[in-house]
Formats: sequence, structure tokens, C-alpha cells
Amino acid sequence: MKFELKQHFQIESARYLPHLPPEHPCSRMHGHSFKIVLTLVGPLDPVLGWVIDYNDIQSKMQPLLAQLDHRVLNEVPGLENPTSELLAKWLYDHGSQHLEGLIRVTVAETPLTECSYPA
Ligand SMILES: [Zn+2]
Repeated sequence: MKFELKQHFQIESARYLPHLPPEHPCSRMHGHSFKIVLTLVGPLDPVLGWVIDYNDIQSKMQPLLAQLDHRVLNEVPGLENPTSELLAKWLYDHGSQHLEGLIRVTVAETPLTECSYPA
């Protein structure tokens, strides 16, 4: 019996996308309030009746998010081209080392767009 959990986070970060032509607005330094959703899947703890304490997800993600929040993403190793796609992959690759059951990271750079990794 497996359950799926989601936990939402938000970070404020600056970025520019270095491979775009100069006339593209995203080639210039700008900021986003990135919404991040982690999806975890796991079995129920038979005694506690939950998959994982949301506080544990929070504390395990905190060091990673601290590397991104109120920073220039381009300066973070591995995020030299910080598209939402590559940010989702970076969060998944690093987050899955600490969070058992992490199956997906979704990044929304605006209220109208989002992308997930892995698909
Ligand atoms: Zn942008």
C-alpha cells in the first residue's frame, strides 16, 4: 500500500539564460519566485500511519534550498544555464540523495507555467 505525498516550497532567485539571443528578455538578469513541488511515494509506516514526516522533508531540503534562495542561480555549480528544466533536474538529482521515495520535482517559474523532472 503506497501513498503519494507532495510538499511545496518557494524560493526567490535571480537568473539569466546565457544561450539566448540578447533580444530575448530571459537573456537579461531577472528574478522569479520559483514554486517547487516535491512528489514522494512510499509505504505507510504501520505504527505512525504516515509515509514521512513533512518536517523531515523540510529539514532535508533546507540545505539545498539555501543554496538557491536569494541567490543568482547561474553562480550555483551545475546551474550555469538555469532553465526551469535544469533547475528541476538539479533539485531532483541532489534531493534524491537525501530523500527516499522522491520521484519527481516540479518547478513553476510563473503561475502559468511549470515543468517536472523526471517526466
Ligand atoms: Zn526567467
